[in-house]
Amino acid sequence: MEIGWNGLPYNPISNFYRQKFGAKIYKIPVTVVDSCPNRKGFKGMQTCVFCDVWGSAANAESSVMNLRDQITRYQEIIRKKYKAEKFLVYFQAYTNTFTKISQLRENFETALEFPDVVGFVVGTRPDCLSQGVLDLWQEYHQKTFVAVELGVQSFFDDQLEFMRRGHSSLDSWKALLKISSTTSVDLGVHLMFGQPGETDADILLTAKLVNSLPIRNVKLHNLHVLRETPLEGLFQDGQFLPIERELYAQRVQLFLENIRPDIFVQRLAAYSSRWNELVAPAWTADKMGTHQFLIDFLRERQSYQSKSLT
Ligand code: SF4
Repeated sequence: MEIGWNGLPYNPISNFYRQKFGAKIYKIPVTVVDSCPNRKGFKGMQTCVFCDVWGSAANAESSVMNLRDQITRYQEIIRKKYKAEKFLVYFQAYTNTFTKISQLRENFETALEFPDVVGFVVGTRPDCLSQGVLDLWQEYHQKTFVAVELGVQSFFDDQLEFMRRGHSSLDSWKALLKISSTTSVDLGVHLMFGQPGETDADILLTAKLVNSLPIRNVKLHNLHVLRETPLEGLFQDGQFLPIERELYAQRVQLFLENIRPDIFVQRLAAYSSRWNELVAPAWTADKMGTHQFLIDFLRERQSYQSKSLT
């Protein structure tokens, strides 16, 4: 039986891109900053437990390339690999609003110089949003597509503390409401499942909270262990056990069944960009296999996004 969206058990972000741009859209991940409040140790903050030295950048070498070169290089690679025609520049690594407004503006202008770039996506954290940043996003929203992905990760303060995020759940709420009430940018959140002590009730509450938010999309990650991260030390000491694939699939199922059908899903799980950086769990290394496992898991259970809401 075919259920969901073109046979998929969830509403993929590609649907939104097709509706909006009439084409398949590919993200070009770039690095334009080299730090964040946590890494700088502001107010006693520490590096997030899961964060690698590249600040979650997709391409390690991008840290030594200027923005124009990064876009040119990765656009070409993606174009050849997927026959891609339209792109979004994705300011991905570290905290992209942790810089001067003039620098942000210059980055946006550079991104829009490329004819096949139809807009950009900015990744940032909830406590790095000045009025100047919001005004700038709104200004660019008038002339191109602007999306913001906020690293919420969890709505539970004990989980945020474990991850050493350095912000609270309330900070995330305030940030999301501030962005949605003062700008018209496309808004999404990143969430991480597989926290120590996490329960089904946590996932259900997270889904309810997500449904009440003015967001368009979610990106799901499992909390995995990368080399040279604080989490690696906790893992080696036996203080952190990564979630098993089956249990993670159950979490994803529960979450998807309880979120609104109009929320687009960017991704179902985290994947290590660098094959030699992953410590655990091993299943995270198999990107396509894990993705297919999650799809099959949902299909076998006749599960689909918003099933419990209908
Ligand atoms: S996840 Fe983001 S905020 Fe946390 S240490 Fe890494 S770059 Fe900084």
